Amino acid sequence: MKRTIYFDNSATTPVDPIVAAAMASFQEQYYANPSSMHQSGRQVREMVEKARCQVAKLIHANPVEIIFTSSGTEADNLALVGLFEALGQPFHMITSRIEHPAILETCKYLEWRGATVTYLGVDETGAVHSDALKAAIRPETRLVSIMTANNVAGTIQPLPQLIDISHRHGALFHTDAVQAAGRIPVDVAQGIDLLSLSAHKIYGPKGCGALFVRRGIHIEPLLHGGGQESGWRSSTENTTGIIGFGEAAAITSRGMVKETARLVRLRERLIEGIALQIPNAYVIGDRYRRLPGHVALGFAGQEGEAVKLLLALDEAGFAISAGSACSSSHAAEPSYVLQAMGFNPLQARGGLRITLGRFNTLDEVDLFLEVLPGIVSDLRPITSRIDANR
Ligand code: PLP
Repeated sequence: MKRTIYFDNSATTPVDPIVAAAMASFQEQYYANPSSMHQSGRQVREMVEKARCQVAKLIHANPVEIIFTSSGTEADNLALVGLFEALGQPFHMITSRIEHPAILETCKYLEWRGATVTYLGVDETGAVHSDALKAAIRPETRLVSIMTANNVAGTIQPLPQLIDISHRHGALFHTDAVQAAGRIPVDVAQGIDLLSLSAHKIYGPKGCGALFVRRGIHIEPLLHGGGQESGWRSSTENTTGIIGFGEAAAITSRGMVKETARLVRLRERLIEGIALQIPNAYVIGDRYRRLPGHVALGFAGQEGEAVKLLLALDEAGFAISAGSACSSSHAAEPSYVLQAMGFNPLQARGGLRITLGRFNTLDEVDLFLEVLPGIVSDLRPITSRIDANR
């Protein structure tokens, strides 16, 4: 297989070699069940608890507030359904129209169970406005769930204002920080009550996530059984995954300030290079209030060609995304996120996402800038090529 330059770090990140090595050596030596009382079990328990501290540190939480789950999706489900089960009805919650399906589909499920959900719109950059939240919040609003940063547009939400409004009205605040944690500073001390994480977005393994639940908040578990994770989530722990998650969180915490600045430099070079060479390119989402390595683009008049463009880039050795990885089976359908941001259905089908990560280099960005203009111009709709020849 020829070498691919991987620019799809929002879909998932490569496992950091240090994480992979830690997981491999753990897996070989430490197979005991962390609930076992013998020495081997106690050793594994210690290592799981160390990983809990490492994950907690990434978001400035107390380790007792971290519940390991099987994914970001499970963390989102546990937050919403767990709170609904704990508080009972009437249950009104507020979310946004651009959340990940892990939130939106869970909201649909809660509606089926009798909850009421308000879906806030966003502006053309993908930001939720505090006025919209103020208008929607009610005395029976129990929960507000707004993602820290969006996976499709990259836009970072104004969490402090949204948290403030939620708390002033007595609602808890949950944020899906799966895309944001490890990429921008995330601190639960700003008033976050529940927060979802996923290991595979921070150079850790797939199939491992966590939910932060502020001490004193009660949620009902989704899984019932042996009472692991202090009863919040029964099932023998995915110990290898948890060790990898902890190591990934520790590496990310240590290097974040430098890495964020480096990724912003790469992102800006990419955006500026594209703007110089491809006049019909436009940036989707907020120009600056966006995730460090996240570039979402459209090409005016060529939106119908997005999938062809993605495949041509793939052929040229670049892995990028159309919209979000979760919707690859719907690649030809307009993105609900872009539609919520005001793009028409054709434009909403035409978004491309280039997401840079830890292992990308300046040379790779420059190579992309050499290749992209030719591919875009080859895909010009037939009419404009005829026009250009005139
Ligand atoms: N939330 C957001 C914002 C995501 O981008 C994703 C994954 O793409 C998830 C949740 C789901 O995480 P996981 O893949 O760990 O289930």
